[in-house]
Amino acid sequence: MKGERLDKVLARLGLGSRKEVARLVRRGGVRVLGQVVKDPGFRVPEGAALEVEGRPLEVRRHLHVLLHKPRGFVTSRTEGPSVYALLQGFPTRDLSPVGRLDKDAEGLLLFTTDGLLLHRLTHPRHKVAKRYLVHLERPVGPKDQEAFREGILLDGKKTLPAELRPLEDPTWAEVALVEGRFHQIKRMFRARGNRVLYLKRLALGPLELGGLPLGMARPLTEAEEKALY
Ligand code: URA
Repeated sequence: MKGERLDKVLARLGLGSRKEVARLVRRGGVRVLGQVVKDPGFRVPEGAALEVEGRPLEVRRHLHVLLHKPRGFVTSRTEGPSVYALLQGFPTRDLSPVGRLDKDAEGLLLFTTDGLLLHRLTHPRHKVAKRYLVHLERPVGPKDQEAFREGILLDGKKTLPAELRPLEDPTWAEVALVEGRFHQIKRMFRARGNRVLYLKRLALGPLELGGLPLGMARPLTEAEEKALY
């Protein structure tokens, strides 16, 4: 079927969550090409004019920027050296980081102007996986894998099930988390009597670092953007 779902289009344009915009559509608040459409699943022809509550929809597109963060940069506006220094040429004032990476960690850091998207990507309820490559002081084994699956107590609260996959050299592993608590991976390994020597985020939900060079930033492609909403 051609075109994108109406609820998806409206959510991407920042009118609310998928649920909220579906409610708005069912109420008859949205016109596509001048006609009221009450089906949130209606396929919107590319470039079709939309009206919400009688007003033409201003197509305010959000911006999302992917950074390959190097070690030594802080995910903060006020402390330095700041990751924002690596976003030159982008409207940094409007961009917020989707989660944080520690100063000594590197890898994928997404910035967005879309607060709703930020919330959805970071709230554990939405179970968006973040995948990391980790180098450890000591090898990891099946008991560590079990502990990560079961959850580890940090500040009196168990971590949500996480996936730990040792690589061929078991001092290297991949970890997938759906939450982003303070120094989470380092603290999980510390609780297992191990220590993280190197940490890199490889992926966030459908987004991958790919071949983006260290220290470089780029806007998301249209396909990546669609995969996020
Ligand atoms: N876990 C950590 O310990 N640090 C990060 O930067 C990300 C996940």
